[in-house]
Amino acid sequence: MTFVELVLEVSECENVGNVSLPRDYEWAFSIMCTQCHHTHDKRIYLSQNTLVPGKNDRSEFHFYMKCKECKYDQSISILPKGSPYSLDVSGASKAKGGLARFECRHVEIKTWHMEDNIHATGFESSTVFEHIDLNDCWCDFDEKTGNNVMIEATQHSWKSVKE
Ligand SMILES: [Zn+2]
Repeated sequence: MTFVELVLEVSECENVGNVSLPRDYEWAFSIMCTQCHHTHDKRIYLSQNTLVPGKNDRSEFHFYMKCKECKYDQSISILPKGSPYSLDVSGASKAKGGLARFECRHVEIKTWHMEDNIHATGFESSTVFEHIDLNDCWCDFDEKTGNNVMIEATQHSWKSVKE
C-alpha cells in the first residue's frame, strides 16, 4: 500500500486567494502496474462520489481493476483525511502545497491529466472563477476588487506520504 500526495505548485500568479477543485472533481490519470510495470493504455477516471467494489465485494475503492498482464488487483482510494482539494495562495506570487492524497495498491499514478474544471478565488474578495484550464495561462478580472487575476504557470508532482 502506498500513500501519495499530489502537490500543486503555482509558480506565477497575481491576486489569487486560493486554487481548488470541486468536491465532485473527476480525476483523470495514467497509471502503471507496480508488479509488472505494465502501463495501462487508457486513462482512468475516478471521483470522490463514486465507489466501485473490489474483488470480493468486501471493500470499495474509487478505482479498481485487475492488471491485464499480471492479474494483480489494482486499486486507488481518495483519502478524505488531508485532502483539502485546495491550495491557499493568499495573494502571493507563488504557492505550493498538497492538493489531494491517494492510497494506491499495486498501482503507480504516472500522470494527472488536469482537466479544465479548476476553481480559483480572487484575493480579498469572494469572487469564484470556475472552469479554469491550468494547462494554459489563465487571466480574468475581479469586479469586486478591480484587480486582474492571473495564473501564469503551474506544475504538479507526487510525493510519498504516511497516511
Ligand atoms: Zn501488472
